[in-house]
Amino acid sequence: MTSRINVMQPWLGPEEIAAVTEVLTSGWVAQGPRVAAFEAEFARIQQAQHAVATSSCTSALHLALIVAGVGRGDDVVVPSFSFIATANASTYVGARPVFADVDRATGNLTAETVAAVLTERTRAVIVVDQGGVPADLDAIRALTDPRGIVLVEDAACGAGSTYRGRPVGAGADVTAWSFHPRKIITTGEGGMLTTSRADWAERARRLREHSMSVSAATRHASVLAPVEEYVEVGYNYRMTDLQAAVGIVQLGRLPAIVARRREIAASYSKQIADIPGLRPVEDPAWGTCNFQSYWVEALPEYPLDREGVLAHLAAADISARRGIMAAHRQPAYAGNAHGPLPVTEHLTDTTFILPVFHQLSESDQARVVDALRTAAAGG
Ligand SMILES: *Cc1c(COP(=O)(O)O)cnc(C)c1O
Repeated sequence: MTSRINVMQPWLGPEEIAAVTEVLTSGWVAQGPRVAAFEAEFARIQQAQHAVATSSCTSALHLALIVAGVGRGDDVVVPSFSFIATANASTYVGARPVFADVDRATGNLTAETVAAVLTERTRAVIVVDQGGVPADLDAIRALTDPRGIVLVEDAACGAGSTYRGRPVGAGADVTAWSFHPRKIITTGEGGMLTTSRADWAERARRLREHSMSVSAATRHASVLAPVEEYVEVGYNYRMTDLQAAVGIVQLGRLPAIVARRREIAASYSKQIADIPGLRPVEDPAWGTCNFQSYWVEALPEYPLDREGVLAHLAAADISARRGIMAAHRQPAYAGNAHGPLPVTEHLTDTTFILPVFHQLSESDQARVVDALRTAAAGG
């Protein structure tokens, strides 16, 4: 009997438990001093001027498009090859998501695929660092900046990845991050918006809290609460201090998490190099991956197709996953016209994600490789 190997497992320890206990003991559990401290630490680590914590990456993306002035009648270029929240954010603000294809090696938008779908109405591009693979932002900016198109980065999976020597996200107008347990660090649920624009950060900070002119923290801190005003229609997209306390501990773990994931990825790549027909994701020329997702393309030389590989791994009690979805194939976007997306469709049909997490043991990793090898040998 073997035990199940999961595709992902968050790394949480006694430090997170102590941090949550401290918040509970303090009596201040909603957005307050821990959220502020988490924002400051996140901004420092990601080399961002401003950081605004949110309830999720999805809500951060929504706020990013609002503060960037994207709305009804606008087109937003997004990869279909992404979790559906990327496309949904455009829909929330009344804009039309325009699906662009991706590069086969990285799974990301490129200047060429974006250029192919630009329209008169293109107001923003949401570039995703898919699975933690840094997108080539400068090449896309060279296309969008002269046209006044806002560059939003969906770095949901990107914490700890680098682009040209800096953290991903640092080069976009506004960036959204996720702390869902499937991502690189977690707060249970949670997100962050980072930006170089002080005015955008200030508006996002208000919008996440019902657009109240006086924050709840300020009101609760005063005996006689000041009168507040609601300057526009806002949202409740707040993070709690319970989550932020976990986030602060997780940020401290980030370098170790990324180092370990890179070690596991390098070991996979080395071990599967002699198995014909498997192409793993790798660092692009312009940056380094955190390997939030270590994905592999099953080439025609491999005897099993993607569904076959997943079934073979499942039989060995190994939980792998299908690669990234394609939003344009979902019923939610059935009515959304788009051009040809051959690479998106190819990757979404042929890629799978192998188990990678901080605590993955060498022997468990060897079991995964063995299963891939026996499948290749027809066993
Ligand atoms: C996970 C993910 C999201 C959504 O993140 P949440 O924090 O769950 O809202 C958005 N975009 C991408 C690319 C993702 O992988």
